[in-house]
Amino acid sequence: MTFNEFNFKETLNQAINDAGFKEPSPVQRDAIPIILEGHDMIGQAQTGTGKTAAFGLPIIQMMEGNRGVEALVIVPTRELAMQVSDELFRFGKTGGFKTATVYGGTPYNRQIGRINQANIIVATPGRLQDLLKSKRITINPKFVVLDEADEMLDMGFLDEIKNIFTFLPADRQTLMFSATMPKQIKILAEQILNSPKSVIITKKERTNTDITQKFYVVADYERDDALLRLIDYKNPNKCIIFCRMKKEVDRLSSYMTSQGFKVAALHGDMEQKQREHTIRSFKQGLVEIFIATDVAARGLDVNDVSHVFNYHMPFDSESYLHRIGRTGRAGNKGEAITLVSPNELRTIKRIEKDVGATLISEVIPTRQEVQSRKDDDLLMKISETEVTPSAIDMVKTLQHDIDIVTIAHLLATMVQNEIGVKGKDIIGLGQKEIELLIERAKNQRGRDRNNSRGRGRSRSRGGSRGRSGGGERSRSGNRGSRNRSN
Ligand code: ADP
Ligand code: MG
Repeated sequence: MTFNEFNFKETLNQAINDAGFKEPSPVQRDAIPIILEGHDMIGQAQTGTGKTAAFGLPIIQMMEGNRGVEALVIVPTRELAMQVSDELFRFGKTGGFKTATVYGGTPYNRQIGRINQANIIVATPGRLQDLLKSKRITINPKFVVLDEADEMLDMGFLDEIKNIFTFLPADRQTLMFSATMPKQIKILAEQILNSPKSVIITKKERTNTDITQKFYVVADYERDDALLRLIDYKNPNKCIIFCRMKKEVDRLSSYMTSQGFKVAALHGDMEQKQREHTIRSFKQGLVEIFIATDVAARGLDVNDVSHVFNYHMPFDSESYLHRIGRTGRAGNKGEAITLVSPNELRTIKRIEKDVGATLISEVIPTRQEVQSRKDDDLLMKISETEVTPSAIDMVKTLQHDIDIVTIAHLLATMVQNEIGVKGKDIIGLGQKEIELLIERAKNQRGRDRNNSRGRGRSRSRGGSRGRSGGGERSRSGNRGSRNRSN
């Protein structure tokens, strides 16, 4: 299917083309026709599935222009407000539509000035309610969108939202998007939506096939070494490393910095200004590696993240999906890499089941393997480099004292030293060992199931903890027989 089938106006097709969108995502495919027909709608789809365009495109298609604020989008945070308004601006500008962003912490006057010029406003609930209640603005939008509704309720914005709707016209078209559908969301939907249609993108459709998912089995004490080796080997463009706790983020940031990487930590409790600054330097490539907790990375939208690393397994499948969705965006390919300890293998199975995808087990490359790959790259680079006159002069000077082959050896040693791979040769478990552990986990699961009949629900925890010691022993015992697949 292509975007042509929606019969959008020419200016909009132009914008879609400029954005580089080739085909509609599942939520766009399902939601756009419903919205164009004028229905209220409730949409459930994960982050990164293209919800902004799913509501933005049909709304812009139906907007007339020249009548003040025609569309209002409410989002939970200032950062999301900026992201969403950037995206809507892209779609609207070819049709001459203006977008304004409304959030707290900035002066009222300039914001109000912009709102008065705008056709689309993207607002956070607090400031918007403030402006409406104090009658600093009156708006009469035909289209109202509640984006990331579950997040807004989590942040305690329910009262503000209800209050905002008392200022909005009754004959509006209302759309609500949420990643999850808890009961309060359904109740709110009944209050603000009018016979809504619903669009649900199931888990299977959600998993982005542009993301390759892999896992590596390592002992806990090997995580740092494993991470460095993998970064060395994969040479990511931009990457995000996820940790479970802030404490871990801090420790890992200092460690990676000490190893010469350009890293930045992203905290949930960072000040907004600082957070935006950090994200901007990541987008601009001044920082190559982001180290973050789940909370801190919510909604983070950077297009060219090539790799996501799970330093630790995430707590649940939802956060796994959210984490890996930070890569493979906007049609790019991405790789999601999870480090697991032997006793976490069955969590991998559970995640695979929940997200409807396979995680490929791989072996961490040895120092030798990384080194020879880097040497290959280097040879390629040398053969492709253009000789400069000053280089010719330099070799001439050297030739007075040293023969030409020795000069070549010296130069090669110099460049090789710069790309030397550090760390121990073998990190983590080999393929054979991993297969053995997976097999054992399966058998254990069967046994657990039989034993659990009279024991209630606590079995899986006890079971997995009990096995971890065995896993460790087999790892060191099988060191010599490690079987490499690549
Ligand atoms: P969500 O709101 O569901 O989290 P976004 O609307 O922020 O997702 O979209 C995520 C990314 O995917 C954005 O960078 C957006 O530009 C891009 N995107 C959306 N739809 C498409 C599409 N049809 N083709 C290619 N990229 C898309
Ligand atoms: Mg969104």
